[in-house]
Parts: sequence; structure tokens; C-alpha cells
Amino acid sequence: MPTELEQVAAEAATCTRCRLHQGRTQVVFGDGDPDADLMFVGEAPGFHEDKQGKPFVGPSGQLLNRLLAGIGLRREDVYICNVIKSRPPGNRDPQPDEIAACRGWLDAQVRLVDPKVVVTLGNFAARTLLETTTGISRLRGHTYPFQGRVLLPTFHPAAALHATSSRVGPSPLQGMEDDFQVLAKLLAESRPAPAAGPGAGPPGTAGQGPEPRPSTPGARVPASLAAQHARPRRRYLAGALEDAEQLGLF
Ligand code: URA
Repeated sequence: MPTELEQVAAEAATCTRCRLHQGRTQVVFGDGDPDADLMFVGEAPGFHEDKQGKPFVGPSGQLLNRLLAGIGLRREDVYICNVIKSRPPGNRDPQPDEIAACRGWLDAQVRLVDPKVVVTLGNFAARTLLETTTGISRLRGHTYPFQGRVLLPTFHPAAALHATSSRVGPSPLQGMEDDFQVLAKLLAESRPAPAAGPGAGPPGTAGQGPEPRPSTPGARVPASLAAQHARPRRRYLAGALEDAEQLGLF
């Protein structure tokens, strides 16, 4: 019996809601753990993804795998998808009507995978999910409530791969590495505390976790956590702004 996510994927595989179906090899729906705490959302499939039917399998995906390994995660531990499920011709930017046509698939993925943390990769995904025109360099360095979860925007791996080495200040790669450290903390904090062993804590409290933190209504990761991690991010935000301007990211 297929899961609901598998059923949605099967339906998406024959989608003709926008013009992109005409040029694609196949729909690139998503990949990874369907019960993951962490979901990555990129822009749109590129050449390799269109051929293989999986998101982030080219050079950007290899960098993503390395960044994940840096915080002790494997690709199989997370769920990865894109805002757009069909490759735009020549990797051009997706058009507003294409985004709108594809949005239902992404919303279904978020609802069914039900991650605690969503990481957007690059300008495009951050702007789409946060419904803003603000660029990634300004958005980055903070976390945002998103459909009862936490959203952490970071650069697109391609921006880190294509950045020149002659720039002043922290590179997009350094920015991503920093963001992944924040991510590791978010994930650790959003996990339930392990049950205390027998005899731990005062009588009658064995097995209970710490006091719950105050949280924003509907947010499963405390808002205080977001503020906590947002503060140190300011240290390199100025450098990141310069990076993005040089990269033409906003
Ligand atoms: N870039 C994206 O945004 N998504 C992919 O799947 C691959 C490259």
C-alpha cells in the first residue's frame, strides 16, 4: 500500500500544470527520508537532476552532502526537494506562473514529511517560501516561523561553488558552514530530551524531560531558540551582504 507521499509523487510524475512539462526528461519530485526532521528546498532541477530524477545529484548536491557530513548527517537522513519539480530550459529562472502551478506539490511535501526544520537553499527558495522580495543575504542569519516549523535560509550551494576567491570577507561557503552549525543546534534542540534513567532527578520526576520552553503558538521549535541563534549570526552578516552583492544574488 503506497504512502500518501508516494501517491502524491506518482500524481506529480505526470503533471502538466505548466509549460515546463514540455521540455523535461522527468519530474524531479523529492528524495530522502519521508519522515525526516530536516527538509531542504532548492530552486529547480538542473541537467543532472532532470536526467536522474533526483534533486541535488550534481556538483551542488556533492557540496550539500559534504556540509551534511560536517554535522554528522547523511543525505538519507534528510528530505530534499525543490520549489519547481521540472527543469526550466537552459536552467533559466522559474516564472511566477510556474511557481504557482508547482506550489501544491511542495505544500503537500511539507505537510506529509512534516519536518521540524526547513532549510531553503538560495535566493529563490527563501523568497518563495517566506513570500518576500528581500534577498538571501539579508534573510540569512535569522530563523523564521514557517507553517508551524522553523525555516533557516542559507545560500545555494552553486553560489558557494562559483564564488571567486578574490573577494573580501567571509565566502558563501563559509557562510553555509556557519549556517549548518546553527542547523545542528536547531535540530538538537528540537529533539525530545532522552528519558532520565532510574533514580535520576528528584522523586517523581524520573523520565520527564526538562521544562518546556515558551514557544510561539503553532511553532514546534521555540521562538526563543530562533532569537538565540539569530544574534551571533550578525557577526558575519555584513560580509555576507557584500558576498551576495558581488554574486548578484540580490
Ligand atoms: N539546484 C537546485 O536548486 N536544485 C537541484 O536539484 C539541483 C541544483
